[in-house]
Amino acid sequence: MENTTATLHGSDILQKPGQLIDENTWEDTIAHELFHHWFGDLVTAESWSNLTVNESFANYSEYLWNEYKYGKDQADYHLMTDVNQYIHNPSDFNKNLVRFNYESREDVFDLVTYQKGGGILNMLRNYLGDDAFFAGINDY
Ligand SMILES: [Zn+2]
Repeated sequence: MENTTATLHGSDILQKPGQLIDENTWEDTIAHELFHHWFGDLVTAESWSNLTVNESFANYSEYLWNEYKYGKDQADYHLMTDVNQYIHNPSDFNKNLVRFNYESREDVFDLVTYQKGGGILNMLRNYLGDDAFFAGINDY
């Protein structure tokens, strides 16, 4: 949870040194929650309809972390896994990214708000180029 100044994680995130030799399975979650300090805490959605403003950027931070630490191939693999989750869920595939009509706020916590939004940000980055994309994020 991305509380301002104090990101909270479940106890599962505490891995022993022996576990970390194989893999830190929580790196994506850590990157995601820390990114919310900007998108989610400082830049906050007006309503649940705009939750994707927070979550798509936090989702895309997982790509950025993987690209920084492990390289573009690992980041692209992470993105492909995310997009595949979204694409192969028929109930989500036809939903708009921003939805103003929903039964419960929980309805917008889905693969569209997170994975589709992160995928769209990556598409924009590829379309605009890094200079324009990151300058835009900086302005935003
Ligand atoms: Zn989040």
